[in-house]
Amino acid sequence: GKPICECNACFTGPDCSLFKPSCAVDVDSGNPMFLEPFWKQNAGSSGVMVAGWHRMGYEFEDGSLISKQLESVIHKLHETVGNANTSNKYIVFGVGSTQLLNAAVYALSHHNSNSSPTKVVASAPYYPVYKSQTELLDSKKYKFSGDTSSWKNKTRSSRTNFIEFVTCPNNPDGHLNKAVLQGKFARHVYDLAYYWPHYTAIPSPMDEDLMLFTLSKLTGHAGSRFGWAIVKDKDVYERMVEYIDLNTYGIPRETQLRALKLLNVVLQGDRREIFRFAHTIMKTRWEKLAEMLSTSKRFSMEQLPSQHCAFSKQVRPTSPAFAWLKCEAEEDEECHNVLREANIIGRKGAVFGVENRYVRLSVVNSRDDFDLLLQRLQDLVSKHLSIV
Ligand code: PMP
Repeated sequence: GKPICECNACFTGPDCSLFKPSCAVDVDSGNPMFLEPFWKQNAGSSGVMVAGWHRMGYEFEDGSLISKQLESVIHKLHETVGNANTSNKYIVFGVGSTQLLNAAVYALSHHNSNSSPTKVVASAPYYPVYKSQTELLDSKKYKFSGDTSSWKNKTRSSRTNFIEFVTCPNNPDGHLNKAVLQGKFARHVYDLAYYWPHYTAIPSPMDEDLMLFTLSKLTGHAGSRFGWAIVKDKDVYERMVEYIDLNTYGIPRETQLRALKLLNVVLQGDRREIFRFAHTIMKTRWEKLAEMLSTSKRFSMEQLPSQHCAFSKQVRPTSPAFAWLKCEAEEDEECHNVLREANIIGRKGAVFGVENRYVRLSVVNSRDDFDLLLQRLQDLVSKHLSIV
């Protein structure tokens, strides 16, 4: 019969229980399926039913494109978690935070046609979409200009404005990045996709001028394509709204309805349930990974410092969405190939602007994927130990 679930590449059969031993485990993309069991447990309260006649129009009753209810739930969410200060700030919705990356670049770039293009930079290793999206849109107003560090102390002499993406925690390496460029020529976009207690301690609320968040990494609903920006400056906010209006004329109302329903579940009860659930899974996965790699000389991973988390009131080690693995052996310059031979598909360092000695592996996939990743890595580590 028809499968009752979507089987991943390593399983088959009507209930996805038949294992395909030779398959490759795909941990290339960061698909946050680890949260699926939480939503199965909360299936009743999190479902949405949309009748055919419902919410057909372009605008809400008040003429706007954004749900005021959803906007107020987002304020409440950040207040609860303590990860961002939203008071006296504007909120813009986007089709995933992907759409907001460019809305932000557009809004912050120089609009004087005589001046040279604004330089868009990020600290390597960086999330590749900053580069690929900026290059795709190929504007006269802005240009992707590589690694932030090459512009440090040069912002004045370059006579141009800068937009620096600051990713905290960083994708791929989990660092709590801070802005590198300072001064009146530099504007910052804080991409806080992973600034949730699932992945990091939350020492204090971020209070930056432009902050981006996404439902994808909070609830795991990456396919709903919902993100939001928190913006301090009214002019920047208006430019971002202009961009969204002209690009897609808002965010699907179905998506807003679903996001509202999901966030209400996040905030129900003691408002901690999903965070406990997500952190417990991530913590356990990281303990297993760290233990397994501790015996390896072939692969290494940087140990990130623990910090006090104001949300959980604990000192917490980080549990990032990705493992950023380094191949130590001289001959293993192409680390992703070493893993590919062991049936693990990761993403190579070059994609993030660094050497291929590094490879990124997703830790947020389904349990099946993670268990298989662990087993395959374990085999690789043990095999190497027995050779040495
Ligand atoms: N920023 C970062 C750092 C990400 O890792 C991702 C997703 N991988 C995004 C933005 C975009 O996420 P989405 O469009 O699903 O909101």
